[in-house]
Amino acid sequence: MKKIASFTIDHTRLERGIFLSRRDTTPSGDIISTFDIRLTRPNREPAVDGAALHTIEHLAATFLRNHPQWSQRVIYWGPMGCLTGSYLLLSGELAPADILPLMRETFGFIAAFEGEIPGATPRDCGNYAYNNLEEARRVARRFLDEVLAGPGEENLNYPA
Ligand SMILES: [Zn+2]
Repeated sequence: MKKIASFTIDHTRLERGIFLSRRDTTPSGDIISTFDIRLTRPNREPAVDGAALHTIEHLAATFLRNHPQWSQRVIYWGPMGCLTGSYLLLSGELAPADILPLMRETFGFIAAFEGEIPGATPRDCGNYAYNNLEEARRVARRFLDEVLAGPGEENLNYPA
């Protein structure tokens, strides 16, 4: 089998940031942009706590699907199996810089979130007790302050 595109990125040199993972065109001609929202340096920093990444999933998906400008473009948000980031799929031909303000809003929402995690009930989620809001807030704050506040080229482009 062919090695898929996301396995050809050199993860040993990958920084935190917003990266365009791929663009696909559906049979009906719609363009879908897939973003790699990388929260930690792969293999050089600890992975994100799994329960915290689950909480980030619930909060980010809720925020994005309620966003007045972007909700109609949101196809999917979900965690990477390696626990170093999340994937965001949006309708349209978009680049990382196009969604930087949206990611600042999203992680600002998570960093400040208080109260009941949306969808964290046995009826709404397959593992509702597996959440860690305090750690999700810490991870979001760190990503905001250290990466999204002033991203460099290495935070918006995959290593060459
Ligand atoms: Zn869940």
